[in-house]
Amino acid sequence: MNAFEATNHYLRNSMEVMELEERVQKLLLQPDRQVTVEVAVELDNGNIGNYVGFRSQHSNARGPYKGGLRYHPSVDMNHANSLASLMTWKTALVDIPYGGAKGGINCDPQKLSETEVERITRKFVDNIHDVIGPTVDIPAPDVNTSAREMAWIMSQYSKLHGFSPGVVTGKPLDLFGAQGREEATGRGVWVICEEVLKATKRETGNCRFVIQGFGNVGSYAAKFISEAGGKVIAVSDVNGAIFNGNGLDVPTLISLVKQGQSVSGYKEADSISHDELLRLECDVLIPAALGEVFVKDNADEIQAKIIVEAANGPTMPEADEIFNQRDILVVPDILANAGGVTCSYFEWVQNMQYFKWDLSKTRKELDKVMRESSRTVFNLASSHDISLRTAAFIIAIGRVGKARVLQGI
Ligand code: GLU
Repeated sequence: MNAFEATNHYLRNSMEVMELEERVQKLLLQPDRQVTVEVAVELDNGNIGNYVGFRSQHSNARGPYKGGLRYHPSVDMNHANSLASLMTWKTALVDIPYGGAKGGINCDPQKLSETEVERITRKFVDNIHDVIGPTVDIPAPDVNTSAREMAWIMSQYSKLHGFSPGVVTGKPLDLFGAQGREEATGRGVWVICEEVLKATKRETGNCRFVIQGFGNVGSYAAKFISEAGGKVIAVSDVNGAIFNGNGLDVPTLISLVKQGQSVSGYKEADSISHDELLRLECDVLIPAALGEVFVKDNADEIQAKIIVEAANGPTMPEADEIFNQRDILVVPDILANAGGVTCSYFEWVQNMQYFKWDLSKTRKELDKVMRESSRTVFNLASSHDISLRTAAFIIAIGRVGKARVLQGI
């Protein structure tokens, strides 16, 4: 099963519980538009670098297409379709007026200079500018992209269409970005952890957390969890994984990573393998990197009590089934990592109104959306004895389905 099939598998499960007619099911599964463009740029050594850029626009039934852009060799149309679909359900679940999209470029930014990444980004915008826009499709950061790339996107788009800060979110603070956007996905993950722990009668201060991935999402989640008293006992990045049963000092780790080092450079911990990290005994395991982490072959060995999906698509359906059988509670990606796009919405609202919120207002509004959405999901799951994932999709499908049908087929 590939990534898009996995997403559609989850959707169909929920659609069947909802007894949705087959013709409506079909309407909601396929992306509206799939764009593939050639991104050829001159590299620093004079050679030509040939990359492929993708944008999948899944649904705009509830508002403009919305979703991130990732730069990674694994990016292809199948992944873009899967992730775009997840964005449709995510934005609906937290009830913000957007649809879903996703895209990226199949390049490896670790092997490129800053100016090469800039040329690639600007060329990509040249090639897709007529299908994006502040009321059409609004990209944002995702894996290996950040405020820096968003600034180039805004700049390039504005050259072609006039001043347009609302064309992209996750911009730098000095270029129409929003306070709190950078931390938002990780903060949302922490709020969801608090909610799920409360719902299962646990306390953050008594829990051990394992975080796979220490980029933007993983590091901010670790920060908020440790500030709330949670013990982060293991983290990883692409270069390695570390473990200390007494807890890691998260501020030290964050400053290490800010200096450009790997988490493996942290001295007060044992170095372990990526697989060992996933198999650690803990209360909450947080995948915060790429998708397809939990598969049939490792699902039986996971010893966490709760999995909070900070990454998009980390659990393949066979693993999800095993987790359900083993009573491992899984908080689905479309809820767990919705803090990022929720704060993107706040940024876009500020851009459209030429107005600025302060950090405390953003955090308050973000926490409220995350808490209310999680309670809606938890309530539906427990009243109907279904998984959190099925419940989350049912709520989202109901909203998108209604908007779609009201507009006419
Ligand atoms: N890439 C993030 C996500 O997967 C954020 C998307 C956005 O802000 O539009 O949710």
